[in-house]
Amino acid sequence: MNALSEKDKKYIWHPFTQMKDWEAEEPLVIARGRGNYLYDTEGRRYFDGVSSLWVNVHGHGRKEIDDAVIKQVKTLSHSTFLGLSHPPGILLAEKLINIAPKGLRRVFYSDNGSTAVEIALKMAYQYWKHKGCDRPLFLSLKEAYHGDTIGSVSMGGMELFHEIFRPLLFKTVKAPAPFCYRCGLGKEKDSCGMACADELERLMRENGGKISALVMEPLVQGAAGMFVHPEGYLRRARELCDKYNALLVLDEVATGFGRTGQLFACQHENVSPDILCLAKGITGGYLPLAATLTTEEVYEVFLGDYAQFKTFFHGHSYTANPLACAAALANLEVFDKDGTLQHMPEKEYALSEGLEMIKKLPHVGDVRRKGFMVGIELVKDKKTKEPYPPAEKIGIRVITEARRLGLIIRPLGNVVVLMPPLSSTLRELKRMTEITRKAIISGTGF
Ligand SMILES: *Cc1c(COP(=O)(O)O)cnc(C)c1O
Repeated sequence: MNALSEKDKKYIWHPFTQMKDWEAEEPLVIARGRGNYLYDTEGRRYFDGVSSLWVNVHGHGRKEIDDAVIKQVKTLSHSTFLGLSHPPGILLAEKLINIAPKGLRRVFYSDNGSTAVEIALKMAYQYWKHKGCDRPLFLSLKEAYHGDTIGSVSMGGMELFHEIFRPLLFKTVKAPAPFCYRCGLGKEKDSCGMACADELERLMRENGGKISALVMEPLVQGAAGMFVHPEGYLRRARELCDKYNALLVLDEVATGFGRTGQLFACQHENVSPDILCLAKGITGGYLPLAATLTTEEVYEVFLGDYAQFKTFFHGHSYTANPLACAAALANLEVFDKDGTLQHMPEKEYALSEGLEMIKKLPHVGDVRRKGFMVGIELVKDKKTKEPYPPAEKIGIRVITEARRLGLIIRPLGNVVVLMPPLSSTLRELKRMTEITRKAIISGTGF
């Protein structure tokens, strides 16, 4: 074991990691990133198959973004956004509003996805308060993931991550996740979406006038295991929010910035939310930054005389960090320069072709994909969909094998996730799916 690994084990507590397992193994220490690859301290090269946890967009060490950050470091690294402003923050807000779904007019910055959601909740709640309504409830989906702070965990529905904190969380109403492979309502594939939307309506009717907002990940529930929603569900959710007079908060922290093939996932269904949460891909995977966008309608309700205290009392030390804003501006420019979204259809085609081979494997129960978000669910029995028990660590076995073959991926339980950078080439996509296939065969024994 080298000196760095030793110090890692001595001093660090890693996120979402059972440290007992970590301490028993040799950690992989990443020294360098270039293009769609990461290099460890031994100089071994790995394809970044999960975009460094879903954040990277155009690859590592992208010159335009590097240069923008370097230029900004030499100008201004940080100054507060409380009571002051700065050029990169202003210019990025303008740019975000220009590309955002229609109706969104105001940008409130923070620094990660969890806070983007936290802000959305407080904004929605306070909005109704100012309008003279007490609406203490939020409606969210089962198996949702909106981040790890207590407010966003309250919105979440992942038993595994959230159960222990249940007594600390505020009350929410949970609607079934429209996940057709394992429909929570026990429906068949083609009737699951409709039945789940009907249930959503029932919950809204039942709690009429008490719900501040419906909070959801549009089209794909990422951390749940890449649950791809049936077409039309989001549109229906928007209609229900209008009918029952609740705000729609869309958490596009994972789906935003081209991940699903459109710049924002809600654009697939021509839906605009009242509040939109962005983070992860916003800086191209360079620096922590988040934004919560809203309409002029929501914004205006907070206007009033100073002593009325209608102010939105929320902010962070690093709100709108200029380095991060500069990276985000450069990231968006690269979208135009590379024609990133224009190239998505052919890349998605290549990816889906590679996945066809994986679908046929005997322990692959379901392969779900929207754009560059892929979930491969491994099952003990393909016919009955019987899951692998957690003790078998099947996901971990597969990704360990993939790593040996030069691919970094990360599982969500028994679901192998592929989420490559949008800059991946057709060849790289093919190689990624080939390695994944081999790793599943070794991991499952078939
Ligand atoms: C990752 C994620 C978050 C949390 O973002 P962090 O930056 O990790 O706090 C919230 N919502 C969704 C949908 C996510 O995928």
